[in-house]
Amino acid sequence: MLKVEGLHCNYGKVSAVRDLNMEVAEGELVTLIGANGAGKTTTLKAISGLLPPTEGRIVFDGEDITNASPRRILELGIAHCPEGRRVFPYMSVRENLEMGCFLRSDPAIQDDMENIFARFPVLRERRDQAAGTLSGGEQQMLAISRALMSRPKLILFDEPSLGLAPNLVERTFEIVREIREKDGVTVVMVEQNAFAALELCDHSYVLESGETTLQGTGEELLRDEHVRKAYLGG
Ligand code: ATP
Repeated sequence: MLKVEGLHCNYGKVSAVRDLNMEVAEGELVTLIGANGAGKTTTLKAISGLLPPTEGRIVFDGEDITNASPRRILELGIAHCPEGRRVFPYMSVRENLEMGCFLRSDPAIQDDMENIFARFPVLRERRDQAAGTLSGGEQQMLAISRALMSRPKLILFDEPSLGLAPNLVERTFEIVREIREKDGVTVVMVEQNAFAALELCDHSYVLESGETTLQGTGEELLRDEHVRKAYLGG
């Protein structure tokens, strides 16, 4: 479904990603793990068109999207749930959800919003409240829901558990699992919590200084000595 070949991304003279290769099959849950600054966020930005790559090729569903606009990439079915949630703080919960489907005009939008409210009742209760007044956990539910409102084929999650209380971290991973299993959406997730990322995924890539140094199934990487020492506290 998604193929990234020889991806290089720079910020001016700073090289953030070097020769990254990854493949994601339809229905898979793939995670990217690595230390701060390894290039994980940059990789997601390149896939969703927010940062044009310096070199390499990104193909989604058979279409070359390497230099496509973020709008075109969303239209093709890739939604990005960014690091730090980035809800529109002065807009209401409902308006944030509407922003998630700004490209759609089909009659099922209301049904989809109802489904979101059934899934996250707190968002229904707060539907007219400014999103910036929600708690961190509620904002994360909203950011995930906003991404779902575009009816994506693939969702890119950037550190969805960041800054949340431990019980909400677990709930967030449960939601990510449900999105793949019940909604049938393919998932690529960047996650600092390497243990959770490896337990949840089908396949994972380890990024170090902008390069993929290891890849494998979650089970393989959980057993890998380097991964255990570097990311799982030995
Ligand atoms: P984190 O977990 O801290 O978000 P990351 O693995 O997602 O880390 P990136 O955010 O992709 O890493 O950053 C990769 C490299 O690019 C880092 O060296 C970072 O300092 C640099 N970088 C990221 N954004 C910019 C920017 N806007 N301008 C200049 N350099 C940047």
